[in-house]
Amino acid sequence: MSRRHIGELTVTRVSVGIPASTPGTPLRIIPPDLDQVAEFVRHDASGRYRPLPGAKSLPTGWEVVLGPRLTPEDVIDTVYPLATVHQRQFADGTLEVVPFQDVLDRQDGRYRAAADLSPAGRAMASSLLCGMCVRRPVWGGASCDPGEIPCPEACSVLVSICREAAAWERQPPSPAPVDPAVPFAAFEQPGNELRERWLSAMMAGDE
Ligand code: SF4
Repeated sequence: MSRRHIGELTVTRVSVGIPASTPGTPLRIIPPDLDQVAEFVRHDASGRYRPLPGAKSLPTGWEVVLGPRLTPEDVIDTVYPLATVHQRQFADGTLEVVPFQDVLDRQDGRYRAAADLSPAGRAMASSLLCGMCVRRPVWGGASCDPGEIPCPEACSVLVSICREAAAWERQPPSPAPVDPAVPFAAFEQPGNELRERWLSAMMAGDE
C-alpha cells in the first residue's frame, strides 16, 4: 500500500498514524473524531504535555482510520495546525513569512524582554528548539523540501525561551541534570531539557 510521511506521521490511503516502535505491538485505534485526535496528541508517550505541536515527541503505535468524512488533511492539520495550508501556500509562493525581529517587536508585557536576547542567543534558541520540531523555519532562511512543513514565523514557545535566555545571558544560572519530568516549556525550571542544553552550549562557548 502506498504511504507517505509528513512530520512523524505515516499517511496511507486508509489511515493516518504512527507505527508501533516495537514490531508486533497492537495499534491503538483512535476514533475518527478530530477532537479525540487533538486530545490524544496533546501529550507524549509518558503523559507529558506537548506545548509545541510540531515537537518530535508524538506517541507511537496508533492510527486513525479515514472515511468519507475524514480526509488525511483533516487529521494532519489537527496534529500539526495549518500544516497542509502552509505547504500549499509555500508551493505556490503565497506563504506570508514574518521576520523574527517583527515577531519580537510585537511582544508586550513580560515577553517584551525576549527582544533583549543577543543575535547569537537568538540563533542558539532557534537552533535548539527548531531542531526538535518537524517544521522547517523558513522565516529564518531554512530550506523546505516538498513534503516538509514550512514554518512561516517564530512560535510562542520560541519567544518564551528567548525571554528566559535573555536573563541567562545577563546572569547565567547553575546547570542541573536533565529531568524528563520537568515540563517541556518550563524553561525557568532547573532540569528542563532545553534550559540545560542551552547552558551547556553557552558554557562550551557555542553562543
Ligand atoms: S519556530 Fe521553530 S519550533 Fe516553533 S513552530 Fe516554527 S520551526 Fe517549530
